[in-house]
Amino acid sequence: MATIEEYTGDNILISIRKTLLYFNTETGQLPDNEQSLHIRKKIEEFEPLLLTLDQALVCIENADVIALGERVCRNINPESVYTESVFLDDLALAMIASGKAQRATFDDAMKSLDKHTCRPLIISRVSGRYQEICASVPSECVYWRAEKKGINCLKHKA
Ligand code: SF4
Repeated sequence: MATIEEYTGDNILISIRKTLLYFNTETGQLPDNEQSLHIRKKIEEFEPLLLTLDQALVCIENADVIALGERVCRNINPESVYTESVFLDDLALAMIASGKAQRATFDDAMKSLDKHTCRPLIISRVSGRYQEICASVPSECVYWRAEKKGINCLKHKA
């Protein structure tokens, strides 16, 4: 499972970069090999869910700690469009402590998501809990790219 430590260190970026590189080298659907199976397993561990704005706001409202920071994968492509992610609870605390996010209020988070209404919102499970809401950029997002490669990882939150 992806852990908070992977987010505060560089491991999450290394992992995303490797996965995107693999997707780039394989044309069409992924082959049925060990590397593809490993990638599928790693992605599925996040149990990513697509959220409506209202669903995202409920998650934020229920959090004890909220933080805002640049979406994690933008570090791989700094020229790309800027979007923020909302981090919740223990992940928020850890991202604030590591200088990768700033503490925020519910209103700050709501305003941030309002700025990215054209971006599909995805919540990911980190260290066993749903703690990251990303205004995703499909052309660069590991989940959307995985979908195109035949890994159906994105489900809508009920
Ligand atoms: S765009 Fe996708 S890969 Fe990038 S941080 Fe957001 S959810 Fe993760």
